[in-house]
Amino acid sequence: MTHEIHKNPTNPQQFKGKTVVITGGGGVLCSTMAEAMAGSGARVAILDLKPEVAQQVVDQIRDRGGEALAVEGNVLDLKSLNKAHSEVSKAFGPCHILINGAGGNHPKGTTSKTEFNIADLEAKDAVTTFFDLDPEGIQFVFNLNFIGTLLPTQEFARDMIGREGCSIINISSMNAFRPLTKIPAYSGAKAAVSNFTQWLAVHFAKSGIRVNAMAPGFFLTEQNRTLLTEDDGSLTDRGHTIIGHTPMGRFGEPEDLIGTLFWLCGEGSKFVTGVVVPIDGGFSAFSGV
Ligand code: NAD
Repeated sequence: MTHEIHKNPTNPQQFKGKTVVITGGGGVLCSTMAEAMAGSGARVAILDLKPEVAQQVVDQIRDRGGEALAVEGNVLDLKSLNKAHSEVSKAFGPCHILINGAGGNHPKGTTSKTEFNIADLEAKDAVTTFFDLDPEGIQFVFNLNFIGTLLPTQEFARDMIGREGCSIINISSMNAFRPLTKIPAYSGAKAAVSNFTQWLAVHFAKSGIRVNAMAPGFFLTEQNRTLLTEDDGSLTDRGHTIIGHTPMGRFGEPEDLIGTLFWLCGEGSKFVTGVVVPIDGGFSAFSGV
């Protein structure tokens, strides 16, 4: 995918002069968002637990003439975020746009089957039932998605108070609207992200900071590849169910997020705050009948 596709045709440099911080910026979806923001003139800080993946994204952006910086940071650790913030401020000045992208699921917060069956209690280790869910796995997922959204916001939103054109973008999910089978922890944690988006939008409404969220539908990434596809690339039963419930009949591509990202971060949405926008090919609108 080239930079041209990521650009707003009516205003190709619409984020010139803005500093954007993207947590989890080394990941599949957020690296595409980072490239798009850089391609539209922003200075982009890629904050990630894994500095080497962040650096790869930075290298790609710089190869195309964009401005980017890799910053090592843990969204669950305020000290680490504070250090990352200093590095960003030194290189690019105060943050205008924060994209809270770090997030994900954990196998220990996931049941093996969609429905409980009493016979599974006898299966012991072969099946993870509701009763086997590990509190530590569940806590990991709540921390990464919810606390991992709250702490970077505490750190970087300080830069935005009383300044023009500042925005926070959280990343929610389809399962925040209605939980998906098997993944109670991830569903609950993303519901918390959507709820927090609304709470913070109200809290900051008069401080000049808009707070919105994007809720991607089903995008084939490393996080869910084995859930949705077999080794030979064909769809699993779950993959078939998803495509069958997606009126547009396909998985999302990371580039599908960019138009909404530009809209939510730009002037065109200056009276929009507290919304969670589904980018899902119609999944959340379809009743299944
Ligand atoms: P990904 O797994 O490709 O990338 C996540 C990135 O976050 C990785 O680079 C990882 O190193 C980083 N990270 C993990 N823990 C961190 C921490 N503690 N501190 C800092 N960085 C950390 O994820 P993705 O598929 O690109 O998803 C991005 C966001 O979109 C996530 O919030 C995810 O839950 C959400 N989402 C994804 C999908 C999908 O279909 N992939 C759908 C809906 C929502």
